[in-house]
Amino acid sequence: MKLEFSGAARNVTGSKHLLHVNGKKILLECGMFQGHRTEALEANMTFPFAVTEIDAVVLSHAHIDHSGSLPLLVKKGYRGPIYCTHATRDLCSIMLKDSAYIQEKDAEWIKKKLKDPKAEPLYTIADAERALTLFRSVGYKQEFSPAPGCKVTFHDAGHILGSALEEWEIEDQDIGKTVRFGFTGDLGRKSLPILKDCEQLKNLDILITESTYGNRLHDEISDVADKLAKEVNEAYKRGGKIIIPSFAVGRSQELLYLLRELEHDKKIKPLPIFLDSPLASAATEIFRLHPECYDDELKEMMDRGEDPFAPEGGVQFTEDVEQSKALNNFPGSAVIISASGMCEAGRIRHHLINTISDPKNLILVVGFMAENTLGRKIVEKENPINIFGDPYELKAEVQIYNAFSAHADQRRLLRFAGSCGDPKAVFCVHGEDEAMVEFRKKLKTRKHLAKADIFIPAPGDIFEITKTKKWKKLDEVNETSRSILGGEWPEL
Ligand SMILES: [Zn+2]
Repeated sequence: MKLEFSGAARNVTGSKHLLHVNGKKILLECGMFQGHRTEALEANMTFPFAVTEIDAVVLSHAHIDHSGSLPLLVKKGYRGPIYCTHATRDLCSIMLKDSAYIQEKDAEWIKKKLKDPKAEPLYTIADAERALTLFRSVGYKQEFSPAPGCKVTFHDAGHILGSALEEWEIEDQDIGKTVRFGFTGDLGRKSLPILKDCEQLKNLDILITESTYGNRLHDEISDVADKLAKEVNEAYKRGGKIIIPSFAVGRSQELLYLLRELEHDKKIKPLPIFLDSPLASAATEIFRLHPECYDDELKEMMDRGEDPFAPEGGVQFTEDVEQSKALNNFPGSAVIISASGMCEAGRIRHHLINTISDPKNLILVVGFMAENTLGRKIVEKENPINIFGDPYELKAEVQIYNAFSAHADQRRLLRFAGSCGDPKAVFCVHGEDEAMVEFRKKLKTRKHLAKADIFIPAPGDIFEITKTKKWKKLDEVNETSRSILGGEWPEL
């Protein structure tokens, strides 16, 4: 059994790990590199393995940095199964098509503006649709076998709807032993609204863990509701609009849930809530289809007949651009949740133009805003702010929430890894160098990990299991993986 690290090794996007087991090659995740347009495009064009030699793909969740290269894999000839949970399959059915649509639009833009007639989308909507036909969805706790001698079970990861931890039991023919292997995918945080908390994998011989916040602690999620109630009430008293730029999948539904709960607890007045994003509306519909993912609080709310994702529960979905524009003239207070999350595209920019210069209004920042985005300018309270080339005075109140992250923080990551048995090896992936080095230091202090090897693999690194179930790094590296993101990879 061998493990080959490619994407999300010493970085946080483009997740791809290749498992060589019993003569088969299984790809764990097939994520897209995100970041600067040209660099990401080049990194995404190349797979560091022969696509047709892959026997199966196992996918932990639907986020594009884990699933977004599946249509390209299929475009390049992959025809095997793609295993994931039912909810992940449904979310991928809208997210991969949306991603393809963005690729198509990008290519058109490059053709026109940069006068490059050869610009092609990475993949098209048709490619995404072809990939979707290969999905084989499996319920939580239902064993499946992606390769001979391999039994895999999905468990709740508490990260986004459908997200799964993977528990593998492998009869490894090379060493003639059973190897228990766990992969976190992305690990959620405790008490995230809507979802069941992540479960604990036990008795593992080897763990691959994400490390995004390996060096950070989050604010408590329970503090969010009170802060939200206070600020929404103040804006309501002023007769202001509450504008929330939000990611379409996950964050939008969490907000719908929290607002519904505050209303039920009489902490805020009933307010009109508009979800103004076609992708967020489609995702919300998928949330309604998957009660198997709900935590007890959401089940209770549903039992009371207060579905936060349905028009009866108070949310209004805008169908088209005309309805979205009509919100500009809506009298009195209302909550408008709109995409995109970083305010770089979509309908949110029009709502900001209409509200940003009136001190009655409130803009809630609920997600990470990357540098050079309109969202970041709002966070930094740049004044005036340019939208579509025109300056607008920023007079609306801006409030920032850092507690919404869907990733486990250091404390939770440590607890998970420290309680998974007495593994011989822990591989840290999906993190920046600084976070992983700090995380490794902490991991070594855990009682059950004192004897484990803690690896921080670089792209292209290959590890092999030995007869004692220890792992050794091979001298050979996958040069394509190593060069995809460029740069040097001095060992950490
Ligand atoms: Zn994720």
